[in-house]
Amino acid sequence: MTIKTRFAPSPTGHLHVGNIRTALHNWMFAKKESGTFLLRLDDTDAERSKEEYVEAIRADLAWLGLVPDEEQRQSARFDRYEEQLEKLKESGRVYPAYETAQELDLKRKIQLGRGKPPIYDRAALDLSEAERADLEEQGRKPHWRFKLDHDSPITWTDRIRGEQHFDPSLLSDPVIRREDGSWLYMLPSAIDDVDMGITHVVRGEDHVANTAVQIQMFHALGAEPPEFAHEALLVGTEGKLSKRLGSLGVSSFRERNIEPQAIVALLARIGTSDPVEPVADAAPLIASFDFSRFGRAPARFDEEELAQLNQKIAHLLDYGAVKDRLPEAMDAAAWEIIRPNLHDMGDVEQWWQVVTGPVAAPAMPPEDREFLAIAHAKLEELEASEEIWKDLTGALKEATGRKGKPLFMPLRQALTGLDHGPDMNALLPLIGRDAALARLAAASS
Ligand code: GLU
Repeated sequence: MTIKTRFAPSPTGHLHVGNIRTALHNWMFAKKESGTFLLRLDDTDAERSKEEYVEAIRADLAWLGLVPDEEQRQSARFDRYEEQLEKLKESGRVYPAYETAQELDLKRKIQLGRGKPPIYDRAALDLSEAERADLEEQGRKPHWRFKLDHDSPITWTDRIRGEQHFDPSLLSDPVIRREDGSWLYMLPSAIDDVDMGITHVVRGEDHVANTAVQIQMFHALGAEPPEFAHEALLVGTEGKLSKRLGSLGVSSFRERNIEPQAIVALLARIGTSDPVEPVADAAPLIASFDFSRFGRAPARFDEEELAQLNQKIAHLLDYGAVKDRLPEAMDAAAWEIIRPNLHDMGDVEQWWQVVTGPVAAPAMPPEDREFLAIAHAKLEELEASEEIWKDLTGALKEATGRKGKPLFMPLRQALTGLDHGPDMNALLPLIGRDAALARLAAASS
C-alpha cells in the first residue's frame, strides 16, 4: 500500500505555526514511508477563501521545503459532493431539516436547562411528506444533516492517542450542507479522503470529535476509514494557546532571519520524546519520525528556543545553501570564516563590512597608537601570506614585549573596528595586506 497523507488548510488566512507543524508531520510521514504528500485546499467557503492566501500557502510550504506531490481544491469538486450527497439521500443517511438557527438555539437552551446534553433531537426525521411540502411552500429551505447510526459504536486505534471510543447516540447528526447550498467541512473532507486515496489523516486533536463522525461517513460512502493520528495542540511558553502563535507565520520568521531548517528541526520534535537537535538537513528527522514518540501533553513552542536553534543551524549551513543570500564577492572561504560569528543570517552584511571596510576604530590611548605605528612598520616588512597574522604578532611580540590582550586587542580594534569577531588568523588574509596597512595607519594617527 502506498502511503498518502494530506495537509488541508482553508485559504482564509496565512498559515500559522500550528498549521505548519501539521503540514510538516504529514510531509515527514509521507517521506519516511516513500509515500505521497497532498496539499488539499479546503476552499468551499467562497466568501472567505482568497486566491492571495492560496498563493501564500504554496509559497510558505515551498520556503519550508515541504513541497506537495499533488494539489487538489475542494472548489473544483462541488459536482462530486453533489453526486455523493444524492447517493446518501438514497441510502437514507442524510435528511433535510428546516429549523432556523434561533429554533435550534432555543432547543439547546431547553435541553441544557433540563440538565441534558444539547444533542439535536432529530425532530426533522418525524416530518411527514406533507409537513415538509408545507414548510417549503412557506419559503423555508432545508439544510442537510448526516444521520449517525446509533447502533454502530465508533472506535478506532489512533496512532497517537491509542484506542478511541465514541457513542454515536451522544452526538448530534452533523449539518453537512447549509440552506444556501454551501458545504460544511465534514462531508467533503471525507469524500476527498476516499477519492484521493488518503491512507493517514494526521491533524490536531481538536478534530477528534470530527473523526468520530467522519468514520461513520466513510462507512456510509462504502469505504474503509483511513488511519488517524491526532496530535496534541501547540501552546506558547505560557502554556496556553496564545494569540501570538496564531499570528506567527513564515513572514514573521523571514523578517527575523529564522531559517526554514530551524523551524523544521523544532517543530519536528517538540511534543515528542525525542530531543530537539540542531540539524540543517531534514533527512535524520524524517528517519526518526514515529507517531509512538508523540506525547499527549501539549507541545510547547518557545521562541527563545527557536532563536537559539536558529543560531546553531546558521553555523551548519553550507556555502551552497546560502550563496544566493551572500554579498556577491563573498566566497566559500569567507563564508566559513564569518559563519561561526552569526546570530542569524542578518549579521552577514555587518561582518562582510569588517572585511571590505570601511571600519572605524575606537579612540585609543597614546601608547596603543604608538604600538599600532610599530605594527604598521612591521606589516610593511612582511609579505602577504596565509600566515600573516602569526608573522605580524610574532614580530610585534619581539619588538614591544607585549603579549596576550595588550598585544591582540589594539590590533583587532584597529583592523576590524570591534573588540570581538572572527579568528584574526583567518580574517587578516581576507582583509588583505593593503587594507590592513591603511587601517593600522588610520588608527595610529
Ligand atoms: N480545513 C480543515 C482545517 O483546517 C482540515 C482539517 C483536516 O485535516 O481534515 O481544520
